[in-house]
Amino acid sequence: MARLKPPAIIVLGSGATATARRIAACYPDARVHGLRGRVQAGSGATAADVLFDELGAHLRELYASGTPIVALCAAGIVIRCVASLLANKGAEPPVLAVAEDGSAVAPLLGGLAGVNVMAREIAAALDVPPAITTSGELRFGTCVLNPPEGYALASLAQGKRFVSDLLAGESTRIEGDAHWLDDAQLPRSADAQRAIRITPHAWDGNIDELVIHPRSVVVALTDGEDAAQRIRDALAAQALSPLALAAIVAPAARMGDEAFEQAARALNAPLRFADVADVTDGTNSANGTNAAAVMDVKDSHAAPASLSSRALLTAALDPDSEIADSASGVALAVAAGPVDVNTIGRARGRLTVIGLGPGSADLMVPAARAALDQATDILGYATYVEMAGPFRADQQVHPTDNREEMQRARRAFELASGGRRVVMVSSGDPGVFAMASAVLEALDASDAPEWADVELEIVPGVSAAMATAAQAGAPLGHDFCMLSLSDNLKPWSIIETRIAHAAQADLVMAFYNPVSRARPWQLDKALDIVREFRAPETVVVLGRDIGRPGASLVTMTLGELKSADVDMRTMVIIGSSTTREFVRRSAHGAPREWVYTPRWYR
Ligand code: SAH
Repeated sequence: MARLKPPAIIVLGSGATATARRIAACYPDARVHGLRGRVQAGSGATAADVLFDELGAHLRELYASGTPIVALCAAGIVIRCVASLLANKGAEPPVLAVAEDGSAVAPLLGGLAGVNVMAREIAAALDVPPAITTSGELRFGTCVLNPPEGYALASLAQGKRFVSDLLAGESTRIEGDAHWLDDAQLPRSADAQRAIRITPHAWDGNIDELVIHPRSVVVALTDGEDAAQRIRDALAAQALSPLALAAIVAPAARMGDEAFEQAARALNAPLRFADVADVTDGTNSANGTNAAAVMDVKDSHAAPASLSSRALLTAALDPDSEIADSASGVALAVAAGPVDVNTIGRARGRLTVIGLGPGSADLMVPAARAALDQATDILGYATYVEMAGPFRADQQVHPTDNREEMQRARRAFELASGGRRVVMVSSGDPGVFAMASAVLEALDASDAPEWADVELEIVPGVSAAMATAAQAGAPLGHDFCMLSLSDNLKPWSIIETRIAHAAQADLVMAFYNPVSRARPWQLDKALDIVREFRAPETVVVLGRDIGRPGASLVTMTLGELKSADVDMRTMVIIGSSTTREFVRRSAHGAPREWVYTPRWYR
């Protein structure tokens, strides 16, 4: 079983919070998620750590991000909420329904992700029997097809057939170290025809065997060309399964080489880097330890040698090595059990600059969510870092003051160049008056080779102007510009000139950073300039805290607009001469006001 994220425990009313807290106590970092309006936010026994607005959307988002769900409500409600996402059986996290009063625990989905294990844990905490319905699980007390982290099932289809056979009365041997099955009530027999085999060697199609691979094979190579195929060939030559691959090791000088990245993606194995110099110094002379590091994999039942990452790397990265297979250029080593890849070389660091969107989780792009889930370190202005959470205990959060942008950008590179997976958080879009420019400025100013090696990616987000415009209708439907009214980093005279030109050019204008305590007069000055070119009837949209609690959207005219209507959390959209506003009333509903700028121009 891969390591699970902490579960989200869902409550729809304060009556369920006591049970939710008892469940949360079983899992470090578990959070109680409460329906807004029914449950208060807070950390107390009757409160929820996180609030959500709509159950269906919230459960689907949790499910899609692989978060285990424990919902304290009717099973049917949960099933209906996630039904549209159920096509892909392989990727489902555990989903359980628990009775509000703790009297029933029903595992619903995620058999291969350990839902029954969770059901037993939660049921034990609540002192009730779990409602386990999986036949194999009931009979054997464990899910045989769900090996622990560090192991992979060779074939799910064969696994299901194998378990059915056991349920039908067959017995099995166990070959290799399957310590997690020690307490399972399996029908064991030393001379059984069927066998559960724990081996890095590929399953040969024998339907009497259930093969589980320890991720115990490390390959190393110096040249990335066609690497995936060469690794596959090298594994096949030793009858090893690609599923047993724990890591691919490349020379540190090849960091950033796309060929290696591709191979790692194709083989779904982590890529690690090391220097030949790192591994050939000291006592590990190239030829002294290599032979011990590389098991004679042809003899499949021999006890594998212990893996020495230094020696292995020496083997692969040293062109004079006797071990590196000169034909394929791929060195293989097999450890006795799953390998902790963190002990081998180092990872290529990653820095992902993301935008959270305006605030609500459903306006954050999935790539940003994925980057946050994978991050080891999260940096950003404290308010935004908090919006991006909650985070796991293994994730390090580095909140900073809003003004320390360059320092923050450099810190992000320092962390990433040490092999961390760093996420830099902005609101809205990271490239619009936000951290992406600061990060690139820091990189531009540095000639540190280790910074250039960092895998840098910028993930776009929904900017405040877009989010506000969408609420109002389509005021940005024709040519527009975005301007920051902050004169912290540019002279006010430049801002005045730009506003005058934009107003004269009849562009719709989106004002970011319209006012702040330190900049009280600038907005009035800007509006004076706009009014020189635009009529008092010009449509203006003010969006405040769009996508956040307490959001407000106001439409008015340029003549009515006063700077007192605006604060630093407001987006100001000033329409062009063609921007229009109208109201439609449906037969039954309330009137709805719309603002748009037509696509055409007279
Ligand atoms: N990168 C951000 C902008 C940062 S500048 C983005 O793309 O949205 C900060 C300014 O953006 C604020 O002063 C305000 O004018 C605007 N803003 C940011 N979030 C907002 C929101 N949720 N609602 C309205 N305006 C917002």
